[in-house]
Parts: sequence; C-alpha cells; structure tokens
Amino acid sequence: MNRDLTQTVARIAGVNPRACMRCGKCTGACPAYDEMEYHPHQFVSMVETGRIDELLRSKGIYTCLSCFACIERCPRQVEPARLIEAVRVLAERKQGADHLRPQDIPARLDPDMPQQAITSALRKYRR
Ligand code: SF4
Ligand code: SF4
Repeated sequence: MNRDLTQTVARIAGVNPRACMRCGKCTGACPAYDEMEYHPHQFVSMVETGRIDELLRSKGIYTCLSCFACIERCPRQVEPARLIEAVRVLAERKQGADHLRPQDIPARLDPDMPQQAITSALRKYRR
C-alpha cells in the first residue's frame, strides 16, 4: 500500500476518493463493466486504501471508455473516471522514464525506414 501515491492520484484527479459512500451507482452505470477487472466503485476504494500499484498494472485503466456515466451518477462528486484517468496518467509518467533519448535513435535506425514510419510508431507505441 502506498498512501503517497493515493495523494498524488487524488491531486491529479482533483477529487476526493474518501467521499465515496460505496453506493455502487457508478458501477451500475458502467458500460465497460465486463472489461474492467476492478469496477468503478472498487477502483475508488483501491485508490483510497493505497493499492495504486495494482491499479497501475490493471487493464482497466485502458479499457475504461471515458464515457463519464460514473461521473453523472455519483451523488458524492467522487467522479471515478477522473481517478481512472489520473492512474493512467501516472502509468504513462512512470513509463516515460524508459523512453528513448533522442541521441540514442540514430544508432537504431534502419536506413531504409521511411520517416513516416518513425512518426507513426511514436504515436502507436506511446504506452
Ligand atoms: S467513464 Fe469508464 S469507469 Fe466510468 S462509466 Fe464510463 S467506462 Fe465505466
Ligand atoms: S457512485 Fe460515487 S459514492 Fe457511489 S460508489 Fe461510486 S464513487 Fe462511491
């Protein structure tokens, strides 16, 4: 468990997971229910209890549709989708440390590779 990461996620999201009253309305409205191993109300609970590392590894941060149905239904302004988005941002920031440095690129290039392929790969393989 990592309480520091809970604060980081809450700060990025701009919402307070502690306000959740576990009513489950967010999960009841979620169209991606079957694709998310942690459903919206569970996601909120895991953020609150510091289980961020598990969430960073979950597929749900990419299968959430960002439809905001959970935001509409939440009576406590917890807004689960904002917490999901915040964990996704955190995952991308962590992976950012592994990105190539510009000076490393020339040695890896195939001289026959078109420049468009490089640009396309950068877009596709951001994660
Ligand atoms: S924003 Fe994501 S978590 Fe919220 S209801 Fe839509 S798919 Fe489900
Ligand atoms: S709708 Fe809001 S208060 Fe209810 S379980 Fe979901 S996040 Fe918590």
